[in-house]
Amino acid sequence: MPIISKNALINFSAVQAEHPAAGPGLRTEVFFFGCSRGCPGCINQWVQDLGLYNTETAETIAKYIYKLGNPRISISGGEPFEQIKGLLSLLFFIQKEFDNKAEILLYTGNDLEDIQDYCPILVYLVTYLVTGIFIQDFAYTKIENSFVGSSNQIMYQLPFFKELELDVYGKLKDENDL
Ligand code: SF4
Repeated sequence: MPIISKNALINFSAVQAEHPAAGPGLRTEVFFFGCSRGCPGCINQWVQDLGLYNTETAETIAKYIYKLGNPRISISGGEPFEQIKGLLSLLFFIQKEFDNKAEILLYTGNDLEDIQDYCPILVYLVTYLVTGIFIQDFAYTKIENSFVGSSNQIMYQLPFFKELELDVYGKLKDENDL
């Protein structure tokens, strides 16, 4: 069963241009809808709802993001991994639009071991990965820690796949519905 598909649908809330606090630099931020965790104090409670709202294909959203012209992109929610097919497809098509030069930061409430099955793909498509649920008792208040919400969360910097000199598109194209 293919994971990545240009027809993969994403239930999302918004795409915001020039977001100042979603990672290094001004970034385009995509908010996925839906998160089943319900962490107390979640700053994105407005996207916890698991209902269907805006749905669009991964390829269409990627093309829209490309038109905004900013290769720095953050993906949050909600919990993007609760729409795994849409998430991986969006990452793939963003990199395709930006000719492998997008600098993507991906937020998840999962710990790294929970998503390890996807890491062989993520290392090719994502630059920063922030893991862990938000814990109100450990919440940061200082602006210098604004890329993560609480001190238990971890921000990983992963290699750009272009530095690995691998034919990622060729590999993924063979394995998926592209
Ligand atoms: S995992 Fe993130 S989006 Fe989901 S409830 Fe917790 S803080 Fe909010």
